[in-house]
Amino acid sequence: MTLALDLTDVTLVHGDGDDTVTALDSVSLHVSPGELVAVVGPSGSGKSSLLAVAGALTEATSGSVTLGGTTLTGASRRELTAVRRQRIGFVFQSGNLVPALTARDQVRLPLTFGSVEKPRDPDALLAAVGMDHKAGRRPHQLSGGERQRVGIARALVTRPDVLLVDEPTAALDRQRSQDIVALLAEETHQYGVATVMVTHDHDVLHHCDTIYEMIDGRLGVVTSPAG
Ligand code: ADP
Ligand code: MG
Repeated sequence: MTLALDLTDVTLVHGDGDDTVTALDSVSLHVSPGELVAVVGPSGSGKSSLLAVAGALTEATSGSVTLGGTTLTGASRRELTAVRRQRIGFVFQSGNLVPALTARDQVRLPLTFGSVEKPRDPDALLAAVGMDHKAGRRPHQLSGGERQRVGIARALVTRPDVLLVDEPTAALDRQRSQDIVALLAEETHQYGVATVMVTHDHDVLHHCDTIYEMIDGRLGVVTSPAG
């Protein structure tokens, strides 16, 4: 069973004294298992901050973040590390792969940090993202789209409840972008992952279940095509 992600009235303020930036301003967001949420919005509006707070990388200034009803806000550093390793997957703009590792070893990497309850099989996962034939290659031997596929496989190998994706198509051409977001949608729906994808790319929004817009740290729903 996978878990829902909830942010309730989350505020994140950077800096102190007179020099503060409100990156998130009373943000509330519910993401159900199997839901692909897109967050669009201008640069500097708080999209990456939202992912950092949702993924327990950054502590909210106020408000709460819960995963399946368990509150992450206020949990110990150790508990948060465990949550990040076991329950949360991150995918970054350009894949963020380790230069020296083959695709197969990139996907195995999250399983080497400690015990994972029910990992997916790395080779089967590479096949699922269409990269099994290049499992022995290192990042410099892969295209941008291929690196992104490996990054997605790496994020999914621990069977996370939550997948957080920051501008996955920023370095890709139009067709690759469609393929990558279609893959994210497929994995999200098939494995019941609560996925939040930040994007500038309006051409990929038709793959998403719910679309939000972030403006000046405030999140508003744009559409909910599934109803
Ligand atoms: P986006 O991803 O939408 O471009 P960010 O979440 O990166 O936006 O940034 C939101 C706002 O918070 C911006 O004004 C940015 O300058 C500020 N910000 C982000 N991280 C920090 C930080 N570590 N310290 C101070 N300000 C920050
Ligand atoms: Mg950003």
